[in-house]
Amino acid sequence: MSMKIALIAHDRKKDEMVNFVTAYETVFEHHELYATGTTGTRIMENTKLNVHRFMSGPLGGDQQIGALVATNEMDLIIFLRDPLMAQPHEPDIIALLRLCDVQGIPCATNIATAEILVKALDRGDFAWRELVHKYKPGIDQ
Ligand code: PGA
Repeated sequence: MSMKIALIAHDRKKDEMVNFVTAYETVFEHHELYATGTTGTRIMENTKLNVHRFMSGPLGGDQQIGALVATNEMDLIIFLRDPLMAQPHEPDIIALLRLCDVQGIPCATNIATAEILVKALDRGDFAWRELVHKYKPGIDQ
């Protein structure tokens, strides 16, 4: 089943994200990809993948992705944060990660975890998300 995957990378992690998505392009091509603005553009420039792009992170893109996490619509988040540089939108980042924990959505914040999750995705380990989609309470709850 096609999963909804969000890809976000801070500036000094964007090359790493592009290399990662390129390496696993044959996995990602079976899924629906979403990204913050610049990350999405970089991925589309370097792969054949189609990515739905939200606003740039500092302008609210993390919050837009967070809205889909809040309603349990995202299946996997790969968020390559820069742990060595302060970000102006730190509150938005914390909010997004918090919502992943609220809903129990798999979220990788470094490349090692991202690789394990994408291999799991390729194996079909995300099948349980189909049940989440089926019984999702939706926006009325
Ligand atoms: P960007 O946003 O992909 O638009 O650079 C990412 C971020 O900084 O959160």
